[in-house]
Amino acid sequence: MVTEHIDVLVIGAGQAGIAMSEHLGRNGISYLVLERNRIAERWRSCRWDSLVANGPAWHDRFPGMEFSGHGPDSFVPKEEVADYLKAYAEKIGANIRCGVTVRHVQRNQGRPGFKVETSNGLFDAEYVVVATGAFQNPVIPTLVPETEGLTQLHSNAYRNPAQLPEGAVLVVGSGSSGVQIADELLRAGRRVYLSVGPHDRPPRRYRGRDFCWWLGVLNKWDAEAPPTTDHVTIAVSGANGGETIDFRRLAAQGMTLLGRTEACQDGMLSFASDLASNLAKGDRNYLSLLEEADAYVVRNGLDLPEEPEAKIIPPDPECVTTPIRALNLKEAGISTIIWATGFVSDYNWLKLDCFNENGTPKHQRGVSAEPGLYFLGLPWQSRRGSSFIWGVWHDAKFIADHIIKQRGYLAYQGMALPEMAD
Ligand SMILES: Cc1cc2nc3c(=O)[nH]c(=O)nc-3n(C[C@H](O)[C@H](O)[C@H](O)COP(=O)(O)OP(=O)(O)OC[C@H]3O[C@@H](n4cnc5c(N)ncnc54)[C@H](O)[C@@H]3O)c2cc1C
Repeated sequence: MVTEHIDVLVIGAGQAGIAMSEHLGRNGISYLVLERNRIAERWRSCRWDSLVANGPAWHDRFPGMEFSGHGPDSFVPKEEVADYLKAYAEKIGANIRCGVTVRHVQRNQGRPGFKVETSNGLFDAEYVVVATGAFQNPVIPTLVPETEGLTQLHSNAYRNPAQLPEGAVLVVGSGSSGVQIADELLRAGRRVYLSVGPHDRPPRRYRGRDFCWWLGVLNKWDAEAPPTTDHVTIAVSGANGGETIDFRRLAAQGMTLLGRTEACQDGMLSFASDLASNLAKGDRNYLSLLEEADAYVVRNGLDLPEEPEAKIIPPDPECVTTPIRALNLKEAGISTIIWATGFVSDYNWLKLDCFNENGTPKHQRGVSAEPGLYFLGLPWQSRRGSSFIWGVWHDAKFIADHIIKQRGYLAYQGMALPEMAD
């Protein structure tokens, strides 16, 4: 079989692979991106129908191109985000080959570089950038056994309310996906239960500025390490023009809030006693951002209108003060459980010694423990913004610069020997 030689092989043509293409191309480095489906596939086929970007159009984009047909403050529908990424790839002339799955990557023996086995032949690459996405395989906790009359699906398989059988829906998970899906189902007239875990919930807008702006000026997008080692999901939404996630408002509209889903026995689900404390922690996160924003306004003498009403937290609804700790699925009429419980990565096809015990890549800012191998698009790869459209662009630049530096070292021919004295 013929082996194709490539300087840099990038795997995956989502936003990370496209950003990588831009920086490699700009520096005259020859590269090829292999994508098993289409460009930006995950935006097209792994998200629900009504999803819009979580950040406004002026922010959730690459520096080199604006969204056309959308005002700067609008939230772009997911299909158009994919169109944007495809158009961006065309604009920069990205060298992308679609419909090619990478099956194995292994180190060359006795020389630098990697042997890459794909559905379309073999490649020999000096450098490999893994840009296969942070949100790969859905995680569904093994809590509820298969039960007749009960549909269980992950948020990545949810499309719209009409897809679900009639009846009440339990949504597990209060990050951006869980809360948006629960809200959509409630608006569609469903009876909805939402199991709420620990979360942050920034204000959508405050004093006339979107939270993306506040996180930018307060240097939070550039924060280099998560505030705690525990994963805390962020509840934010661009749906319906963009609203602050407010669990009490959802309860007032008829949604039943529950604590973390803990167990299931004989059709009876049980929930932790943490609902009120999860809401209170979310409130503290929300209020602390308002306070930091106020301090920033004063320090910089900005003329942004005060918004004292944003600090009013309404009283807890009954489902919070008297929480349901156990629920009989049948009696509650729950016909569907949607697990908005996150994703794990799958790197089984990377036959390399560059992973921690828990399977996460060993790396520094995407430079892996295996020389010549890079990761791009990881959450917190270098900063909070790393897995988002605008953040990955900067990480891609860092990796391109690193490759250039490494090539410089390898081009060194050795110390010039002093001329032999006669
Ligand atoms: C529900 C949801 C909403 C989000 N909303 C936003 C948002 O509003 N704004 C924002 O900035 N971010 C958002 N994100 C986060 C992030 O921007 C997206 O997940 C984005 O798709 C990540 O881009 P990526 O290029 O890193 O990975 P992906 O988009 O996952 O792209 C990876 C590509 O690699 C390909 N691939 C994988 N394995 C192989 C292989 N072995 N061989 C060949 N190709 C392969 C896949 O087909 C895929 O196209 C959201 C994430 C989720 C889950």
